[in-house]
Amino acid sequence: ATLQEVIPQLGSSPAIIRPAAAGAGAVSFSFGSLAGSVNTVRSFLTSLGLRPGSAIAIGLANSVEFAIVFFAVTYSGFVAAPLNPGLKQAEFEFYLQDLKCPVAFVATTENEAVVKAADKIGKFVDGGHVKMFTIVAAGENVMLSSVDGKPIAIGGGGKMLPEARGDDVALVLHTSGTTGRPKIVPLTHANLTSSIRNIRQTYGFAQSDTSLLVMPLFHVHGLLCGFLAPLSVNAAVVVPAKFSASSFWSDFMAHKATWFTAVPTIHQILLKTTATDQVMAKNIRFIRSCSSALAPSTMRTLEDRFGAPVVEAYAMTEASHQMTSNELPPGVRKPGSVGKAQGSVSVKILDSNGDEVGVGQEGEICVKGENVTKGYRNNKAANETSYTRTGYFRTGDQGKMDADGFVFITGRIKELINRGGEKISPVELDGVLLEHSAVAEAVTFGVPDEMYGQEVQAAVVVKAGMEDKVTEKELREFMASRVAKFKVAKKIYFTKEMPKTATGKIQRSKIADKFFGLPQ
Ligand code: ATP
Ligand code: MG
Repeated sequence: ATLQEVIPQLGSSPAIIRPAAAGAGAVSFSFGSLAGSVNTVRSFLTSLGLRPGSAIAIGLANSVEFAIVFFAVTYSGFVAAPLNPGLKQAEFEFYLQDLKCPVAFVATTENEAVVKAADKIGKFVDGGHVKMFTIVAAGENVMLSSVDGKPIAIGGGGKMLPEARGDDVALVLHTSGTTGRPKIVPLTHANLTSSIRNIRQTYGFAQSDTSLLVMPLFHVHGLLCGFLAPLSVNAAVVVPAKFSASSFWSDFMAHKATWFTAVPTIHQILLKTTATDQVMAKNIRFIRSCSSALAPSTMRTLEDRFGAPVVEAYAMTEASHQMTSNELPPGVRKPGSVGKAQGSVSVKILDSNGDEVGVGQEGEICVKGENVTKGYRNNKAANETSYTRTGYFRTGDQGKMDADGFVFITGRIKELINRGGEKISPVELDGVLLEHSAVAEAVTFGVPDEMYGQEVQAAVVVKAGMEDKVTEKELREFMASRVAKFKVAKKIYFTKEMPKTATGKIQRSKIADKFFGLPQ
């Protein structure tokens, strides 16, 4: 199926995209009212004479404009290439070149980084310059300008390109770059629509739902789960430009939101900044957590404080987001588990030969389904090793499955600590440190060691006000009381802040580089 077939018809859908949440001046755009704007941008794109399948960069923050460009691009058989609008010039250059974008939409004429990048890239990309445009939605109309501020007159009646087909690529995204250089993942209409159906089925999305979107639209988490899946059932999506801890709950309540999805980092910020009596979100159905591990203690605290079930899910770019999820009540939630394979997705734990391991045994988490990409772009080496002989995609994550089919992630295979041949999961040790009452964040990692090849170390952020209440020695003793001696961190660093990726992920190898060898 194509996105046009799964997302309700523009022009008739009652779905609502609300750009700004706070304040009386906030405008609501019904999805239906975007039809004119989407068609305007479609005929504009058609008039540029681009080859079908060209990647159009969307360097816009979460906004109605993003939605207009996204649907105009994908409905016309072009490929949407959302980019973080906060990228620096060199990063824009890298992505625009990598994707060979002939056109980019950017937010404002003041976005110097992207304009400079385009100037430079113009010299490299075949077929001329990267053409940059800014876009502003106004009511049912849309205004396009060149980046030097000149309005662009859009001639009507341009011939539309033929509609996209299921096998056509609709989206290219980069992986988060947690374990290395980001990889380019092309996703087809069929990949995306399959994922949309699975996600909306898992959470029973309905027209009565409203979500507050706090994840960026330039990653699958926000785009597929926070945006396309709810729109596909005519639900409302409130779209602030980005996450703000201070306005989160007032926005949530003002719009009578029923759910939200976020990474654990955001959940933790919300716990830190929200007084319990601030939250009286009566309509809330559930809170979803995804994209990195949610400590069972955080899950419990979230449920207590915000009075809603917390469901953890497991997803990756290559699978068009979701693979497994815990179930909403009355279904089963298992703290520490990322849940069961959802909808048409099949998940298996395989050994290095590609054979299935037994219940409770560790192996590589592998996934198969219409949602899974057919392969990375320009990365033959990765494509040759990423699929098993039975067509399962190797996630690079290690884990196990219980008798009920619930998956437990034990770590990324690349990040396992190999201490003298003993494989140690840093994720398990993070969890142990987080059980200590003074620890707010913990990251365990392997460092080179003459004797064992690798040795365990860790870095922790101590909870505010408890800085004087805990020592390295005490934390090491705490670990020793809970795990075998060889797993205890030989050194624990204290830091005020843990470096993270744009989506709040921990890059263990970078953190190891940062702390290893620091004088204490
Ligand atoms: P890269 O592939 O470039 O190293 P990345 O794997 O972080 O970056 P994404 O596709 O954004 O890029 O993230 C997918 C990964 O996120 C999964 O393979 C898994 O390691 C991790 N992940 C997702 N959900 C969870 C979860 N609930 N618990 C633990 N880890 C998770
Ligand atoms: Mg990955």
